[in-house]
Amino acid sequence: MGEEKSSEEASFSPLLNRSDVQVLLKALIDNAVSELKPELNQAGEFIYPEAEKIMGSSTRNVKDALESLADEGILVREESTTVLACPHCGDIRFLVDLSGTQTASPEARAKVIESIVSSLLGRRLICLAEKHVFHEGEGVPKKIYSYKLNEGKRSLVEKWVMDLKPLVEALRAKGWRVDYPARIIGRSGVEHVFTLAVSYREDSDSVDAVIDIIVSSKPVDESALSIVLKAMDVKADKKLLLVVPSLSDRARALFDYYKTYDVYILECQTISEINDALFEILTSLAKIKLRET
Ligand SMILES: [Zn+2]
Repeated sequence: MGEEKSSEEASFSPLLNRSDVQVLLKALIDNAVSELKPELNQAGEFIYPEAEKIMGSSTRNVKDALESLADEGILVREESTTVLACPHCGDIRFLVDLSGTQTASPEARAKVIESIVSSLLGRRLICLAEKHVFHEGEGVPKKIYSYKLNEGKRSLVEKWVMDLKPLVEALRAKGWRVDYPARIIGRSGVEHVFTLAVSYREDSDSVDAVIDIIVSSKPVDESALSIVLKAMDVKADKKLLLVVPSLSDRARALFDYYKTYDVYILECQTISEINDALFEILTSLAKIKLRET
C-alpha cells in the first residue's frame, strides 16, 4: 500500500468514516441503488427516502451527508426540479397572504390565466420556517437535486468502502445479534452510531460489543479519541476501535496513557484484513464472556 496514493485520495474527508455513509456508498457501488431521488413529504420538505432507509439516519443528517459528498465530488448532483424559496432563509413552504394584494402587470395577468400556480403573482408569501414576509417576485429559485455516484470516483471509493457483509453473516451464523450500522442511545441521552454492535445471544437486550472503524490514508491522529468518548457513553461490555492503517504516534501515546478508557484498539494495514481480524477477536472475546456467565 501507499505507493500509488494520489493527493486526491489523501484529501478524502472523515465523512467517509461515518458508518451510515459507508453503508450508503456500498449500496451505490454495488448498484443496489443507482439514483437517490428527492420526494416531497407531508411536511412540505424534500427528503431522500431511499438514502434514509439505507443509512438509517435522520432526514437532516442524510441531506447534509449527500450535500457534503457532492461537494467533495464523490456524488454528482442532477437537477430534479426547481422550486420557489424564501429569499431570507431558503424555506420552500409558504402561506399565501391574500390581504393587500399588489396589482400584477397586464403581461403578468395574462399568464395568470394559463396556470393556477401563476395566481401567486404579486401575492405576499409568508415562509413557514421563520415567517419571513416577501412578495412572490422576491422569491428565489431553489434547485432540488437527485444524487448519483460519480463514476470517475468509483475505483477510489471502492478502495475506501468496507464490505463487512461477510463478517456480519458469519457472526449471525453463530446465532449472534448483529446491528450494522448500530444506533445506540447513550447514558447521556445522545444517540450514537457505531459500525457494528454485537450481542452473543439473538434474544439479548444487552450489547456485548460495539465496534467502530476509522479508515484513513495516513496514520489516524488523536481525533480518534472522539470515538472513545462515544464508546464511553454507551453500555457495552467490550468496546473496540479498529483503525486502518494505524494510529499516529501521538494518538497511540494518548491511548496508552488513558488506559481507563477501556477501549480495545486494533490496527489493520488494509481494509481487506478487517473482516478476519474482527471475526477472530470477537470470537475470542465471546469465548471469555460465555465462560464467565
Ligand atoms: Zn424565510
